[in-house]
Amino acid sequence: MSPRHASTILRPPASLGVIGGGQLGRMFLQAAQRMGYRAGVLGAIPEGPGSQVAHWSVVGPPDHLPALRSFLGQVDAVTVEFENVSAPALRWLERRVPVRPGWKTVWVSQNRLREKTFLARHGLPLAPWRPVRTEAELVRAVEDLGSPMILKTAASGYDGKGQVRVDDPSNAGAAWNQLGRVACVAEGWVTFASEVSVVVARGADGEAVTFPVALNRHERHILDSTVMPAPVGPIVSRDARDLALSVAQALGTVGVLTVEFFLTAEGRLLINELAPRPHNSGHLTIEGAVASQFEQQVRALCGLPLGGTDLVSPAAMVNLLGDLWKDGEPDWAGMMRRDPGVKLHLYGKKTAAPGRKMGHLTVLDPDRDTALARAIAAREALIRR
Ligand code: AMP
Repeated sequence: MSPRHASTILRPPASLGVIGGGQLGRMFLQAAQRMGYRAGVLGAIPEGPGSQVAHWSVVGPPDHLPALRSFLGQVDAVTVEFENVSAPALRWLERRVPVRPGWKTVWVSQNRLREKTFLARHGLPLAPWRPVRTEAELVRAVEDLGSPMILKTAASGYDGKGQVRVDDPSNAGAAWNQLGRVACVAEGWVTFASEVSVVVARGADGEAVTFPVALNRHERHILDSTVMPAPVGPIVSRDARDLALSVAQALGTVGVLTVEFFLTAEGRLLINELAPRPHNSGHLTIEGAVASQFEQQVRALCGLPLGGTDLVSPAAMVNLLGDLWKDGEPDWAGMMRRDPGVKLHLYGKKTAAPGRKMGHLTVLDPDRDTALARAIAAREALIRR
């Protein structure tokens, strides 16, 4: 962000634009609209989750100059819903309007090699890792990390895509071939006790706040459920929140940033990865917190004071993947009849594919375990028998 935008406060009904038209963009737009902003999207497809609810939308790839020009013609400020936006496109926009997070944050977090190098340089805790860009580096990684280890493509991996576990050193070459011999990071296998995340919001003035720690459970490398606050002690909770603040500060980011951690049995926190934006594990803040992660994104973008991050109640979220549509439309009414307290979010995606995130359920309950049990039972009740 250029300094001339640093102290700008954008008041409603200014026009806010999000790059990326998926569910994260959609929930950002909904938060912005509730606060009186005009809000629109630059997305690759018409009628995506974002453009369905947008006041205006521009269809086109985000690194395409004509699309960027027409987007620029609509916006007073820009944010992103995903990290694979080209840095030159963001820099081009940043010379003209506030862009939060700025290109540097996005550029660091869109590539695992850059991200790990950055975090290591700032002394932040990581699982052992090595760069793999050549055959010699692959050999060295295997020697240094042993097995099992995990090879991850440096660019454009998500939800476990672009990752191969190497159980036997003699398979490392085959694993790298499977990933197309592109630049990768090799990571030592972490026998974690759990996975947790912290969503942090940071304003242009450097003020930053964190939500309580989220406990995340994955299935097939895709987030399955989140519980907040995570059942971790006060020291781990403070450490996780402080580390998330340190990352945001080190990046100098403005906006929302999510830090995902492995938590080991001895209580050590290792940073797994960063997302320079709201995150699936923060969706339950829509109902569960004073100000949701998407409201924080709006506030940070507009130069407004950040909102409260306290929970109004412990909360649980379960994802609704396309697999649930296997035998037809899920039984929404049956699920709601069973538990009137469950909140349904659907993202408006037209086709349900296995593993595709179609929506989520949130449950608030004074007891977090009960919240999770109710959310899981509600998802079960969606399956027609
Ligand atoms: P990522 O895309 O890096 O978040 O990886 C997806 C999931 O794979 C993580 O949430 C973990 O459950 C698992 N995973 C990734 N890296 C490791 C590792 N170094 N050790 C153990 N499990 C891992």
